[in-house]
Amino acid sequence: MSTPLSIQTAAPAGLRIERIEARILDIPTIRAHKLSFGAIFRQSPVIVQLWLNDGACGFGEAATIGGPSWNEESPESILHAIHQYLAPAVTGQDAGRFEQLIRQMDVVCKGNRFAKAAVEMAAIDAVARSLNVPAYQLLGGKVHDSLPLAWTLASGDSDKDIEEAERMLEIRRHRIFKLKIGARTPQEDVAHVSRISRAVNGRASMTVDINQAWDGNTARRYVPELIDAGVTLFEQPVAQWNEEALRDLTATLPHTALVMADETVCSPQDAMRLARHKACHVFSLKIAKHGGLVRTRSVAAIANAADIGWYGGTMLETSLGSAASAHVFATLPGVHHNCELFGPQLLVDDIVETQMERRDYELVLPDGPGFGVTVVPERLARFDRARAGLTPVHVDMGRASAQN
Ligand SMILES: [Mg+2]
Repeated sequence: MSTPLSIQTAAPAGLRIERIEARILDIPTIRAHKLSFGAIFRQSPVIVQLWLNDGACGFGEAATIGGPSWNEESPESILHAIHQYLAPAVTGQDAGRFEQLIRQMDVVCKGNRFAKAAVEMAAIDAVARSLNVPAYQLLGGKVHDSLPLAWTLASGDSDKDIEEAERMLEIRRHRIFKLKIGARTPQEDVAHVSRISRAVNGRASMTVDINQAWDGNTARRYVPELIDAGVTLFEQPVAQWNEEALRDLTATLPHTALVMADETVCSPQDAMRLARHKACHVFSLKIAKHGGLVRTRSVAAIANAADIGWYGGTMLETSLGSAASAHVFATLPGVHHNCELFGPQLLVDDIVETQMERRDYELVLPDGPGFGVTVVPERLARFDRARAGLTPVHVDMGRASAQN
């Protein structure tokens, strides 16, 4: 039960998926969260609830950032794929055969990795709860009890970001700050990053996420200035397809800075191609874009074999998706570059009884059954889109550009 090889036989025969339900929630963010492609004011995770024939119940989550702005899937497309294709494909199947569930979902539905990840997550949670073990026991066992936790400064205002960074340092919550840039001119971004870097002056490490906003020439021109400003990690500076520019940048950066692929690395095949071409130093791992926890481990294994580091990324999930991410990240060997599972802190409210513990700049892995967090049904009902009747607007380009 504690090795990956035993995954397909972990659940007793007859532990079958009886029923699956899914819904979209709409949860406002505590502030505007500005990225290169716009600003978000609320998150709309799809929450999956999955029942087994022994009565055990598990939860899964797929969150997107800005509807379909981050990649092709949106909350609405995820909900549709689950209801129409994925739930019928896995209902009645052995819930503990995770690889087999993925294969069955792949047969009826190409792509749609976020939707598949939510269903697989719920199956893993349900089986782990049925067996009364933490989910990481079904994923190879843990090698980390906690991980350093980064915070993203993305208000779009340097003064507000400095104030936020000072508060996080004071309460010993975060000392790794990721700045979202790429919406303004590169010169303005360099000035913004430099101001914040000077303000925290050696008390925190600085990374930037450009979210595909630059072309190769812009990256070559401005990355050195950002290194001078104190940035040590550059996340997805160029377009998802622009692997040549990513590779050139990786080959020419000084040793004090690293290039991290995010939107470019989704499938294990993406990971293999990037590794073969030495196109980055670090993979940002995210359950949703890889198509689930099992596939996340496949991508991480390629990173490990290719001497590429890994980073525990987020799609700004609630505590449910964040805990599931923490469980799989906790099982990964190799060199890690921290994690950013701060999604719950960016939302005005959460859907679980008790959030994961954050202590001395680190996120502590919850040890209870399943993903170690308890979803509260009343909170699901409170944010349920079907009840609230909200319209599916996720990203506000107008407000973002007006403020940038
Ligand atoms: Mg990113």
